[in-house]
Amino acid sequence: MKPLQCPKCQSDMDRIREPDIEIDKCPDCGGKFLDPGELNALVTAMAGDIEFCSLDNLDHFDGEDKHPWRNCPKPECLGHRMRKIDLLAYSDTIFDHCDKCGGFFLDQGELADTNLELEALTKHKSHDEYRGRIDGRLVRLDILADALLKSCAGGLPLPFVTGAVAADCLRLSVYFEKPLAANLHVSSEKWMGRFLKSIGLLNRQDIEIGHAEFDAAFIVKGDDPEKIRRIFSDAALRDELLQFRAKKFRMQTRPGTLEIMDRRIVYTEGPYAEGTRYDVEADPAGIVRWMVRLAALMES
Ligand SMILES: [Zn+2]
Ligand SMILES: [Zn+2]
Repeated sequence: MKPLQCPKCQSDMDRIREPDIEIDKCPDCGGKFLDPGELNALVTAMAGDIEFCSLDNLDHFDGEDKHPWRNCPKPECLGHRMRKIDLLAYSDTIFDHCDKCGGFFLDQGELADTNLELEALTKHKSHDEYRGRIDGRLVRLDILADALLKSCAGGLPLPFVTGAVAADCLRLSVYFEKPLAANLHVSSEKWMGRFLKSIGLLNRQDIEIGHAEFDAAFIVKGDDPEKIRRIFSDAALRDELLQFRAKKFRMQTRPGTLEIMDRRIVYTEGPYAEGTRYDVEADPAGIVRWMVRLAALMES
């Protein structure tokens, strides 16, 4: 195989061994080209799908990067210009990303920056705003103060300290009695799923339920397709989920995102100005009652 040419300095890149994967590294500038999945493997500071989360909010990047635009070095991409994306959508670490092959180019030091930044992020914890039982189910509301919360694949909450700008995200969780399925993750952010599918990032774990309307509305990932299809073979459950957008739930003023994971259903809304709250027991938006009903359907 012909070596890749470094997108930065055009030198032939070397195949080098990182602990458990092989990547392309430039001997001159130290830049690294990573195929889909390899960035996740190299990031040590945090578990979860860092690539997915970084691609989750492309419109946040404003084009300011100290590095020039780069072209993808993969032969099949024919010099396709890479895009700039922010690590986890809110960050100073900016990667080059190819939307054809799903690869990333990291300048020297960017991987170390990434790990440092992620370590800082995980230190910022949410506080528990509400924790109680509604219709017998554990319900929790977390307020992430001074933070922008990214709700990501794997259910990873990623609060990011914003400095001067105080902001709160509301995150409502309704728990199952028992975990449902291995590594289940269902998300209402379907536009992102289509995009990730188109570049091959979701191929491994994307599960089609076999009902066109449902598959068009949700991304479903997980380790046990049989079990997951069985759960969503229930028409009443699918109908309830399909009504999520139509119901236009608002704890405050912005539409939020819905996720279903092994242990809980999560609804995330915001960021809002500091001090934003929601009365879980009165539930004026009806979202808590709806999620409790959904949880019961999922377990029946
Ligand atoms: Zn180079
Ligand atoms: Zn490419």
